[in-house]
Amino acid sequence: MAHQARLALGLIGVGHLGRIHAKCLAELADVIEVMGVFDEDSAAAKRVGAEYGWPALATAAALYEVLARRGAPYAVDIVTPTTTHFVLAKAALAAGAHVFVEKPVTVTSAEARELESLAGAAGLTVQVGHVERFNPAFRTLQTAGLRPVFIEAHRLAQFNPRALDVSVVLDLMIHDLDLVLALVDSKVIQVSASGVGVTGESVDIANARLDFANGTTANLTASRISLKNMRKLRLFERDAYVGIDLLDKTAEIVRLSDHDPSAPGVFQLPTQEGLREVTLENPIIAPANAIVEELRAFAVSVREGRAAAVTLQDGRRALELAERIITDMAERNARRAVSAQGGL
Ligand code: NAD
Repeated sequence: MAHQARLALGLIGVGHLGRIHAKCLAELADVIEVMGVFDEDSAAAKRVGAEYGWPALATAAALYEVLARRGAPYAVDIVTPTTTHFVLAKAALAAGAHVFVEKPVTVTSAEARELESLAGAAGLTVQVGHVERFNPAFRTLQTAGLRPVFIEAHRLAQFNPRALDVSVVLDLMIHDLDLVLALVDSKVIQVSASGVGVTGESVDIANARLDFANGTTANLTASRISLKNMRKLRLFERDAYVGIDLLDKTAEIVRLSDHDPSAPGVFQLPTQEGLREVTLENPIIAPANAIVEELRAFAVSVREGRAAAVTLQDGRRALELAERIITDMAERNARRAVSAQGGL
């Protein structure tokens, strides 16, 4: 991309993830020009600004002035706590900025809908930070065509006092809800969920079973108080099993094919339809930094006036599903409480 075609961008929020975004944005200097940094913690903004040679602005309004002086198109990257996304994204759209906003897009789907109508009316692009879509292991397998009938997702994280402002469903499970919705093109007809809060009122461990109209089932587990980290997606297809390790960025495929004595698999499985060959594959996954790739995709979609790789609508659909899960969980917990009191 030529120098003048670089996307002018302001970074809002330089906490844990915002500092990682800063490093990735610095790597994307060929496509993005960072015009300034704003964080309500001004010392944090100054530290990051000094590290990368970007101006630290005292207010969001000052950042928009800098961007507007540079001229459209310009954008902001919002990496602040989820509870602030709606207000900050709304202000960004009002200031004429394209928006990259971290996941979950907002706290409620009603807020996401409002952003959708504001962005649509202003003709501005919004991308939601569902970064797992850019995980090289997921991408490699997705391009090979996945048609799962059963999905098992495990996302377990060691305890970290950050992001306790929202339940584990909104903080962690939302990643897998987005992946499942990207894989299954069908309506969720039933949700059955349970969860428990260990550190406080907010749910720390959750399980949800989703039944889709096309017969696909997804079973998702998320925990933020585990002893070790795990991010795995297991996809069961009619004739294949695909295991994707999103943490190690590896994958394995076990395929069932017609019996072929001239090309035997690792073993033969006797089935009702006769002998079938079982073959194992470990697809080659080229390493990639998913955050760099999602920010690059955002800049390219703004430049080319195309829809974002992960749209506001995608972010809202994942959030709507999260809301159904949280509601089902709360109803189950309420029934449990009544029954414990001898009410049922
Ligand atoms: P954090 O608490 O470490 O940092 C948030 C920063 O935002 C802080 O520096 C804070 O001072 C600043 N801030 C708060 N309110 C602000 C406001 N109104 N205006 C300007 N700055 C403000 O949080 P984090 O862990 O970096 O998470 C930020 C967001 O990123 C959350 O929405 C979280 O869900 C998301 N996240 C996504 C992933 C992922 O895998 N995509 C991973 C971690 C976090």
